[in-house]
Amino acid sequence: MVSRIIKLLFPEKCLICGGVTLEDIPLCANCIDKFFGLFYEDCPACGQPRDDCACACGGGGFLFYFSSPASKACIARVKRSLTKEAAAFMAELVCGSLSGRKSFDLVAYPPRSKKNVSKYGFDQAKEIAEHIAKNLGIKTTSAIKRRKGKTEQKLLSASQRRKNALGLFYADEKELGGVSSVLLFDDIYTTGATIKACEASLRRAGVKQVKTFTLAYTPRKLKRRNKNKKAVPGAAKMTGRVFRYSPGG
Ligand SMILES: [Zn+2]
Ligand SMILES: [Zn+2]
Repeated sequence: MVSRIIKLLFPEKCLICGGVTLEDIPLCANCIDKFFGLFYEDCPACGQPRDDCACACGGGGFLFYFSSPASKACIARVKRSLTKEAAAFMAELVCGSLSGRKSFDLVAYPPRSKKNVSKYGFDQAKEIAEHIAKNLGIKTTSAIKRRKGKTEQKLLSASQRRKNALGLFYADEKELGGVSSVLLFDDIYTTGATIKACEASLRRAGVKQVKTFTLAYTPRKLKRRNKNKKAVPGAAKMTGRVFRYSPGG
């Protein structure tokens, strides 16, 4: 009853267009096919089907490529207006997509900056990580910490991001309590600087196995093309725009 009233007062919004959703799923009738179609998109960088893509670097898992307008709209909503229902929905998709090793001791995430937590009212990676952990029957850890006074990743270039991220995050060994395997979750892989720095911090703190997973993934080749500023036939729509988009950390 109470949840029904809450739903009437604060109706769930579609994860892509913000419209009225279908029952029990944070997507509207118009966007549902678009959303699940994201899972089957060819790689926007090399044009290969996802299973044959040679760009997917870093060995991490992800739900969809960060390229199409629908994928960008979805990540923007995850960052700006993620609801508990949407977090649970995303977590279920993540758990269903985990391949290979599926048993972990803890789920970790890069903490959102304090500034953005107070701006948006939540930490999107933490929210989704908590639902993932619940589904897997384990706990989350806030062992990854963000150092104060460091520049926000989104304000930097790719090479600056890598340098900055290494100093930005560290893992608290005590909080990890000597666990050996951690699932590291983040909402988006842009340059990979954040997730790689967090993975390194966990390894420095003694975690032997770290599996990384993001909702969206920006393939590497696309970035190189953008850097060289060479026109890519048929890809005019995505070059540049992909990288100028800097979701809030
Ligand atoms: Zn929609
Ligand atoms: Zn590819």
